[in-house]
Amino acid sequence: MSINTKNNTIKTIVVTGGAGFIGSHLCEYHINQGHKVICIDNFLTGSRKNIERWRGAENFQLIEQDICEALEIDEPIDAIYNLACAASPVHYQADPVHTMMSNVVGTRNLLLLAEQHGARFLQASTSEVYGDPEQHPQSETYWGHVNCTGPRACYDEGKRAAEALCFDFLRAGRVDARVTRIFNTYGPRMRPDDGRIISNLVTQAIEGKPLTIYGSGNQTRSFCYVSDMVCGLVAMMNMTPNRGLPINLGNPQEFTVNELAELVLMLVPTNSKVVYKPLPVDDPQRRKPDIRRAQKILNWQPQVPLGEGLLKTIAWFASVADRRVTPRKPDAIVTKAHFARSAL
Ligand code: NAD
Repeated sequence: MSINTKNNTIKTIVVTGGAGFIGSHLCEYHINQGHKVICIDNFLTGSRKNIERWRGAENFQLIEQDICEALEIDEPIDAIYNLACAASPVHYQADPVHTMMSNVVGTRNLLLLAEQHGARFLQASTSEVYGDPEQHPQSETYWGHVNCTGPRACYDEGKRAAEALCFDFLRAGRVDARVTRIFNTYGPRMRPDDGRIISNLVTQAIEGKPLTIYGSGNQTRSFCYVSDMVCGLVAMMNMTPNRGLPINLGNPQEFTVNELAELVLMLVPTNSKVVYKPLPVDDPQRRKPDIRRAQKILNWQPQVPLGEGLLKTIAWFASVADRRVTPRKPDAIVTKAHFARSAL
């Protein structure tokens, strides 16, 4: 898939948060397509390792900067993906004011940059705008159930404010802004210490530590492999004309946290056992995207089943931990659903 404007192929693409997990895969995609990528990152949660392979390359430039500071780029820009924001609770709650400002001030700065360059703009929003949802699965028409004073508010409300800014710039005809709501995404280049469920369970299994489950483990999540997510983001940037609607991107196959832990224990050779701990405040009980809008408008749906993506993710975490892990051969019957593409 390549990004096309009306008349010509886009040449210069800005990826904020490009040194992060999803951002670095997005940079890689565009570099492989022959585009120039300008990565803007302050390395709050990103890693130099994620982008070091392009250091010194002609078609890659790093601007080490916080998006809360005003941004200036002297060359023409065709598209801006805004992914700059700490994404896991442990990181975005470490400095909640900065998280809120990254979303509000940072997004405004980038929208101004897009306006100045006449560039398309894509905001990486989140399923967290639905809060602890009372509607299941979550469709884009649902307005959400968010606690605006809780510890997750800096992220949830920050992202909601960022969406509002995008639609204000769009309505005013100032920027061709697009908003995607990303659901749980996983894959290589996640941080082992990000506290997210897949990083936690896989890292614990590799290290032979107990697998921590918060709450009963009956809460559900839907997990999208990162290559699917990148295709969705690119399709969103390609969408012509801009339909002016937020679009969910995620994998609608739903798993309980207990099922995920079972799968990890099945794939990683380990003696680890599961331990249960109290549920954190405002932790959503159910998460599943309604992706009918993405299917219809973007002709997009995820392709990688959880089992397949997990095997690649386990290999990544093993390499980070410098451990040799030969995943167990999955039990054909038990894991059929986890590996089936047709289950969508
Ligand atoms: P990540 O933490 O790996 O990447 C975020 C990147 O942004 C990092 O490189 C970080 O250093 C950078 N950053 C943070 N604040 C910044 C600032 N103020 N100025 C400049 N750079 C800054 O997270 P990720 O999982 O790759 O998520 C990327 C985007 O997708 C985020 O906006 C996140 O909210 C959104 N998202 C991710 C998921 C997911 O499951 N991974 C789900 C929903 C939404």
